[in-house]
Amino acid sequence: MLVQNSSLDHHSKLNQKLDILQGVGPRMLPKLKKLGLNTIEDALYHLPLRYEDRRQLKTINQLTDNHQEVFVGSVLASGETVTNRSRRRIYEVIVGDDTGKISLKWFRYRKPWLQKRFPLGQKAIFIGEIKRFAAIREIHHPDSELIQVNTDLQQLLQSDPLNFGRILPVYALTEGLSQKQARKIWYQLSHDFASFTKSFVPEYIREKHHLQTIPEALQKIHWPDESANLNELEDGKDSARKSLVFDEFFFLEVGLALKRAGVQLEEGIAFNFEHKFTIPLNKILPFKLTDAQRRVLGEIKHDMMAPQPMHRLLQGDVGSGKTLVALMSALIAIENNAQVAVVAPTEILAEQHFQTFSSWLEKLGLKTGLLQGSMPAAAKRNMLDQIAKGEVDLVVGTHAILQDGVEFQYLGLGIVDEQHRFGVRQRSLLKRKGVNPDILVMTATPIPRTLSMTLYGDLSISVIDQLPPGRKPVTTKRFSSSLRKGAYQLIKQELQQGRQAYVVYPLVEESEKSDLQAATGAAELFANEIFAEFKIGLLHGRMKSIEKDAVMTRFRQGEIQLLVSTTVIEVGVDVPNATVMMIEHADRFGLSQLHQLRGRVGRGADKSYCLLIPSEHYSEDARRRLQVMVETSDGFRIAEADLEIRGPGDFLGTRQAGLPDFRVASLLKDIRILENARNEAFKYVKDTNQLNSKDAELVKNELLRRWGGRLELAAIG
Ligand code: ADP
Ligand code: MG
Repeated sequence: MLVQNSSLDHHSKLNQKLDILQGVGPRMLPKLKKLGLNTIEDALYHLPLRYEDRRQLKTINQLTDNHQEVFVGSVLASGETVTNRSRRRIYEVIVGDDTGKISLKWFRYRKPWLQKRFPLGQKAIFIGEIKRFAAIREIHHPDSELIQVNTDLQQLLQSDPLNFGRILPVYALTEGLSQKQARKIWYQLSHDFASFTKSFVPEYIREKHHLQTIPEALQKIHWPDESANLNELEDGKDSARKSLVFDEFFFLEVGLALKRAGVQLEEGIAFNFEHKFTIPLNKILPFKLTDAQRRVLGEIKHDMMAPQPMHRLLQGDVGSGKTLVALMSALIAIENNAQVAVVAPTEILAEQHFQTFSSWLEKLGLKTGLLQGSMPAAAKRNMLDQIAKGEVDLVVGTHAILQDGVEFQYLGLGIVDEQHRFGVRQRSLLKRKGVNPDILVMTATPIPRTLSMTLYGDLSISVIDQLPPGRKPVTTKRFSSSLRKGAYQLIKQELQQGRQAYVVYPLVEESEKSDLQAATGAAELFANEIFAEFKIGLLHGRMKSIEKDAVMTRFRQGEIQLLVSTTVIEVGVDVPNATVMMIEHADRFGLSQLHQLRGRVGRGADKSYCLLIPSEHYSEDARRRLQVMVETSDGFRIAEADLEIRGPGDFLGTRQAGLPDFRVASLLKDIRILENARNEAFKYVKDTNQLNSKDAELVKNELLRRWGGRLELAAIG
């Protein structure tokens, strides 16, 4: 894009195809391609998976149990045997040196290959984890590299520096590429090509954080020298890796800082405090705001009064009272004669918000509208008309609000509920419905704070970290499928005491007929047999929205006691009298989904239960998820566990959020570096007047090269 001439040169070198490397020809090229490696730059960033210590070769008596070890031995015996216990065939090779013996075992193998590779007397380097069973130590499926019988070891260490006498990198491979070949390739890359890369993080920042330049870091990470610390390398804490990670985070955060600065440059609405509706609302509320709600509201008020547009994320666990905070914020806008839009992810949730908002607004003499995609055309036209004329003060709706043809007279505040279903794009569509209105995004998906800084880097963040008083923690139990009678018993008890219950099935997709059948079948079974004395309702994604609304209304009013549902109730539904939630095929839900679902109970003063029924067979990951649910109800701990189980890419949906995948950095492991990089980046953007100062030019070009339009860089045109 805006690449300067001086840097063209180094880019073209980094963009060269890999066959300019020695040993990479037409046969190797496709193998590297399979690893996603096309250019020199790709390959430079293909970092070692781990390292192997070949500075010294240990003797067999020096090997440590449960460690990955490298040693030399000669084959003393070799052949197929049968294990005593399981009567399984295995292949065993006994190797020894002057100090002892060790057994190598293969459980899956091709016999002729092993026979040929390990004849008696063959000398080799063996690599693997040492296990001890009783007296004899063994290695299962070791790696090996053959060496000549008469090789002198000391000589080997010195004469073949590519493969011995140092800490070796171990790479992700593909068929037809061996570690030995890989070493040769990356030796060349690190020695002859790393120097073509450039460092763009300003030098004073590099020095302050003891960072290496990119060329140095890339060389050292592929070819650790004598000063390298093996433990640090293995833990990814070596200075080379840290430097690469900082570089990635720095450019991400510079982008986010610019975006944020761009928002602040826009002219927004500076609301005044009229207290015309907020004080009356406070008077009629049946409860007092929690300290957390009050604090967060203070932050929102501050933003709304400021002349820049608000871009704020409101995080709070399910049931923490975000809706009320949204309502108070809405009143501030309405006091200034502006309109408010509330966007919800589903029609059910929109309907529910409509009821909540309209019941309060009505008491204050204000008008609330509902806009749904599925409304009859005439009703919709009428609603659009009222919105355009400013006759409704607050509009609740689904994505329908964002469509062309929806015009506000004067939109002052846009509220987006349950952000994780919304992309960056929708947020900007909403913004365009007014002239830089304030935007408040609410999410119940608790994200560890540092991660949310990255994900929503351009938003300010408020957290409601306190539940309204009197909430009792939900008791969560896991029942195996065959013991579900126990769960039914518990549900029955609650229903008999006048409470209500949910039974949830995985989402009904067009293709998943069996899920629908399961939910429908269960509803019938419940109505006719198990819970015959109670009123049962059924709710699923393929019902018309009018039907869904009708069922929800009856449930809310207590006419339906037990609601069988697919996950359409996942978000936001608020029926305090519901005290039991039974989740079928619980293993098929993600952790945050389960947490959201569980948040539908425990909303009133009564003790509540969440009953998890997994499928008959389920994975180890699923077992861990369910265990987390049983052990904790703390949304942040659940989020962290979720992050650990799923990995950050999946957890954050970075692609969808418009964030890049990192080549080196891990959002999980490198939080510390992220914080440092963020602080430096934000400061740098400020100090350089949004990268407009002369010495920021290189950083600016590099930023454009890396992220292109992805960050919608508001401040640089
Ligand atoms: P969220 O949207 O954060 O999941 P809601 O705003 O739906 O939570 O609030 C959950 C329930 O708690 C609602 O029934 C609401 O009326 C009630 N609530 C909200 N704030 C308070 C408070 N300060 N004290 C008592 N109850 C509250
Ligand atoms: Mg909510």
